[in-house]
Amino acid sequence: MSYRIGGTKDDLRAAKRQLVTVIDLNKCIGCQTCTIACKNLWTKRPGTEHMRWANVSTWPGKGYPRDFEKKGGGFRDGQPQPGSIPTYEDSGDDFRFNHDEVFYDGNGQSAHLRPMRRLDGGTPRWGYNWDEDQGGGDWPNAFFVYLARMCNHCSNPACLAACPTQAIYKREQDGIVLIDQERCKGHRHCVEACPYKAIYFNPVSETSEKCILCFPRVEKGIAPACNRQCPGRVRCFGYLDDETSHVHRLVRQWSVALPLHPEYGTEPNIYYVPPMGSRGFGADGEITDDSRIPVERLEELFGPRVNDALKVLRQEREKQRNGGKSELMDILISNIWKDRFGGFDADPLTPA
Ligand code: SF4
Ligand code: SF4
Repeated sequence: MSYRIGGTKDDLRAAKRQLVTVIDLNKCIGCQTCTIACKNLWTKRPGTEHMRWANVSTWPGKGYPRDFEKKGGGFRDGQPQPGSIPTYEDSGDDFRFNHDEVFYDGNGQSAHLRPMRRLDGGTPRWGYNWDEDQGGGDWPNAFFVYLARMCNHCSNPACLAACPTQAIYKREQDGIVLIDQERCKGHRHCVEACPYKAIYFNPVSETSEKCILCFPRVEKGIAPACNRQCPGRVRCFGYLDDETSHVHRLVRQWSVALPLHPEYGTEPNIYYVPPMGSRGFGADGEITDDSRIPVERLEELFGPRVNDALKVLRQEREKQRNGGKSELMDILISNIWKDRFGGFDADPLTPA
């Protein structure tokens, strides 16, 4: 792998190619397999308990870290915007369980498992996925989807721009954004600056940490763990300029995969196929052709381009339903799992 030491901000953010992930929000079942795959690989160390570099939250909802969309950062009209640092409670590191009381103190059936605040033993007020499946809308037109997130490995990373020690850089060969742990001095300006709140401060090492796009796997031709382990075939991975890859076809050819909150100005490289939503109920309880998810809510996430993306998705789905052949639906279904990974399909246990 190559490190970049120092240089101007333009040097640090330059990349010849870009690896991207596409996540289909029509297929995610919220099983958290991606979350656990990442946790087991990268954040089992002291000080990382509150970190979920890969995470999945119910949308609409407060997300992870809590209210990340209200904590500022990013750019507006090219200018950096002020941001704030999520608390550990925002990241869900607020409680533990009374395992000793239940399992080891001889209390038999009289003790029951309950969460307790980590610091004072009190009742928790918030945790990871605290508002799971609450969602939005009014009965009978309630709706929600699972929103999987990770660092966006942005092309214009606000974290990189804000770092005073030049510790954050993009890899020239693949655009992965990394934080050099030797150069990081724990100022946390990157945490404030990232509008997605994808950086976490490790209070033990006193450095900032985030998703590394599994670069040790990628260098061996293995897709990132969160992408590879997904049981729903929700995720595709590869180089955006590889015209044979699913990511290129979804982002560039079909234009149905869109970045989250493009208005943040960081040019993110995680893309989402927007949810078409279940059909809604009309005033008399009849099933209509309208989605339960108001398109204005999706515009809040993806901007106005979501309208065209949804139109294409619905047209192609209809074509396939009527017995026609849709290349787009075939890509999204991914019958052959390897096709999703743009050549990064080596076995994690026996890499090429
Ligand atoms: S998502 Fe945040 S941490 Fe990741 S590259 Fe973009 S600005 Fe940096
Ligand atoms: S790419 Fe790797 S490090 Fe990043 S969220 Fe996925 S599993 Fe974690």
